[in-house]
Amino acid sequence: PAGLYFVGTPIGAARDITLRALDVLASADVIAAEDTRSLRHLLDIHGVPLDGRRVIAYHDHSGVGAREKLLEALAQGRSVAYASEAGMPLIADPGYELSKAASEAGYMVTCAPGPSAALAALTLAGLPTDAFFFVGFLPNSTSARKTRLEVLRDVPGTLVFYESPKRVGDSIADMCAVLGGERPAALCRELTKKFEEVRRGSLESIGVSLADSPVKGEIVLLVDRARSDPVKEVDIEQSLIEALESHSV
Ligand code: SAM
Repeated sequence: PAGLYFVGTPIGAARDITLRALDVLASADVIAAEDTRSLRHLLDIHGVPLDGRRVIAYHDHSGVGAREKLLEALAQGRSVAYASEAGMPLIADPGYELSKAASEAGYMVTCAPGPSAALAALTLAGLPTDAFFFVGFLPNSTSARKTRLEVLRDVPGTLVFYESPKRVGDSIADMCAVLGGERPAALCRELTKKFEEVRRGSLESIGVSLADSPVKGEIVLLVDRARSDPVKEVDIEQSLIEALESHSV
C-alpha cells in the first residue's frame, strides 16, 4: 500500500536483512537511499530486481528538492522505500526530516525493522540493559566532548556511544576524566563481521588496552551508569550508634 517505508539493512553480514524488508524493496514504487551504490549492491546480493526503478539519493541535508520529490510520490499514492547505508535509518543516520515531513503531511509512515549496532552491542556488552541512553557520536573537539559528557554523567542507564577507531582513545581519556575511569565499559567492534571483538573492563583498562593494541573498524562503546559510592566503614559505625541510641529508652 501507499506510504513511506523505512527499511533496516545489515550492519555487516549481508544476510542480516528480513524477508519483509526484501519484500518491501522488491515491491516499492520508489526506492530512495542514503548511498545508492550500496543499496543497489545489497539488492543484487539478494536477487531483488530493480525492474527499471531508479534508486534516488536522499539525505536529510541533500536539500529540500530531494525530499519534495519523495513527498510528491507519496501525494500521488505511491509507496516509497528508504534505506540508509547500514542498520536502521534515523539512528545516527538520515531519515528524521523525511519521517517528520511525511507524518505531518498525513501519509502512512511505517518500517521494516532490521539490525542496529547499538542494540547488537547492548546484547554482547555484559552491562545492564534495563535502561540505556543512546548518545551516538560525540563532538570532535575535546572541550565540546567534555561538556557533553558532563551532561551525561548522572544519566541512570547504560550510555551508548558510536565511535571511530581514530578517535576512540581520546574519547576514553575524556570519559575517564569526566565520568571516572573505574566505570565498567565495553568496546564492541566489527559486529556481525569477520573481526568481531568485545573488550570488557573498566574505562581505564580499555584505554590502556587500546594503547597496547589499537583497534580498526566500526565501534560501539558502552559505559555503565554512575554507581553511588560504596558505603564507608565510618558510615556503618555511625548508623549502628544511631540505631542503638534510638532503641535505648
Ligand atoms: N544506522 C546505523 C545503526 O542503526 O546502527 C548507524 C550508522 S552510523 C553512520 C555508523 C556507526 O555505527 C559506526 O561508526 C559505528 O560506530 C556504528 N556501527 C555500524 N555498524 C557497526 C558494526 N558492525 N559494529 C560496530 N559498530 C557499528
